[in-house]
Amino acid sequence: MAKKEFKAESKRLLEMMINSIYSQREVFLRELISNASDAIDKIYYKALTDENLSFDNDSYYIKVSADKENRTLTIKDTGIGMTKEELENNLGIIAKSGSLAFKNENEVKDGHDIIGQFGVGFYAAFMVADVVTVISKALGSDEAYKWESQGADGYTIEPYEKTSVGTEIILKIKENTEDDQYDEFLEEYRLKTIIKKYSDFIRYPIKMDVTGQRPKEDNENELEEYQEEQTINSMVPIWKKNKTELTSEDYEKFYQEKRYGFDKPLKSIHSSVDGQIRYNAILYIPESMPFDYYSKEYEKGLELYSNGVLIMDKCADLLPDYFSFVKGMVDSEDLSLNISREMLQHDRQLKLIAKNINKKIKNELQTLLKNEREKYEVFYTSFGRQLKYGVYSDFGSNKDVLQDLLMFYSSKEKKMVTLDEYVSRMPEDQKYIYYASGESYERIEKLPQTELVSDKGYEILYFTEDIDEFAIKMIMTYKEKEFKSVSSGDLGIEADENQQTTEKEENENKELFEQMKNILANKVKDVRVSKRLKTHPVCLSTEGEVTIEMEKILSAMPD
Ligand code: ADP
Ligand code: MG
Repeated sequence: MAKKEFKAESKRLLEMMINSIYSQREVFLRELISNASDAIDKIYYKALTDENLSFDNDSYYIKVSADKENRTLTIKDTGIGMTKEELENNLGIIAKSGSLAFKNENEVKDGHDIIGQFGVGFYAAFMVADVVTVISKALGSDEAYKWESQGADGYTIEPYEKTSVGTEIILKIKENTEDDQYDEFLEEYRLKTIIKKYSDFIRYPIKMDVTGQRPKEDNENELEEYQEEQTINSMVPIWKKNKTELTSEDYEKFYQEKRYGFDKPLKSIHSSVDGQIRYNAILYIPESMPFDYYSKEYEKGLELYSNGVLIMDKCADLLPDYFSFVKGMVDSEDLSLNISREMLQHDRQLKLIAKNINKKIKNELQTLLKNEREKYEVFYTSFGRQLKYGVYSDFGSNKDVLQDLLMFYSSKEKKMVTLDEYVSRMPEDQKYIYYASGESYERIEKLPQTELVSDKGYEILYFTEDIDEFAIKMIMTYKEKEFKSVSSGDLGIEADENQQTTEKEENENKELFEQMKNILANKVKDVRVSKRLKTHPVCLSTEGEVTIEMEKILSAMPD
């Protein structure tokens, strides 16, 4: 039998493919399963227009079986199969996609279900196999063929016996070497994990013979192993189900299955968009903070799927830093992938999705704040700091998105309040939004500087986190009201005493004040009569923008 050779370019391309396109070997299985799914889809589409063809779901499946002794892994499908010509063209010519041609020829309207498009995925098999054998019988054909290749050398094709329509791909798994492990691709558990990870939402069942243990029939105290065929994938992705049919338990289950977190999600967001760009997203606001959340180790990102096939574990571009706590996934038909399917060719679609998602999260948080205050406060305890960082970073460019989500402890309400609530309660004569910084609410309460403001009946926001004051400085004004620290020089409060009495007192005590100033020479700039003290004899105040608390933080920061 004559061996047909790959063209020289193809040879080089194949070697390149095998060695450098994919960052992870395990994706070979994703590629082969995607091809099998495409092959079944093709029968499905043909049946739509061909009266002689019927499509009953039960007869279509994909089966993965490993044979450790012979080191073979077989991926079998009951799809449309390949004729001799198709084997030659689709598997013999790199970058030729029979699936793409099928989509074009058949004008498959919702052909987006077909995954193949680049004509390279199949060769991923050579990352893990020395020999790849394809046995296939095409729909409507009496003959079956065997295609076989050891990689860059070329391939053989010969007639073969196969009774049922479909394709079997047999991989002779490479031997382990010192540097590379291949045995894992013959392990049942590992294979199951890979299928779950990448192909969980393939629409047809992916079956495997799974080994289980059960008590022996004749002796219940002893266990015996048995094999049972199981469907590994979930098939229908939760995000393609009708929202009205889904319960909060369904979303919680998905959160747990996907291991987005070990807590219960505080809120789930299901978003299906069918406009300029089409996508489905399931997003979660976690209840508790991941242990590494405020550390460098924490990686933000959402899972990204293209047509139900996982492309990226953590797509960071989908989330702004200030929403980095959000977990979940996005599935879109409109992504243009590069050939490894690991990256996107254009980020225009991704940017659009990210923008929509950002808006959605913001709105959902605002709704939570409005309708489920307690839940929002739980959320805010975990992630409020991140929102404040968000306000502060990027020179305050995010403040419009975030300022309405902020909360601070109120001197009057004795609980967390929003800026909007604060401003709406302000008496007419109150000019500023007052705040006081300190280590704890108790300490702030005792600050002499708060007395005058409180006595006027004004509310004070308590800032206990480093970031608070910095964030507020970025906001500058809220609903046209400026923020004012209670320890700043000019509080904008009309004092009861008039200016003259102050001046008089200041003159009368000139010597005393001079004395005090001399003694505290390096510590204070000036000593003055204060109108804001009631029960305390003295207080510190600042001039200008930087308050005492901020100064403390700034001077503690490394240069
Ligand atoms: P793509 O899937 O992007 O088209 P592949 O390299 O994965 O590229 O596959 C090349 C082509 O080989 C497919 O387009 C399809 O025509 C054919 N093919 C591969 N696997 C199968 C299969 N299991 N059944 C039928 N045809 C297949
Ligand atoms: Mg493919």
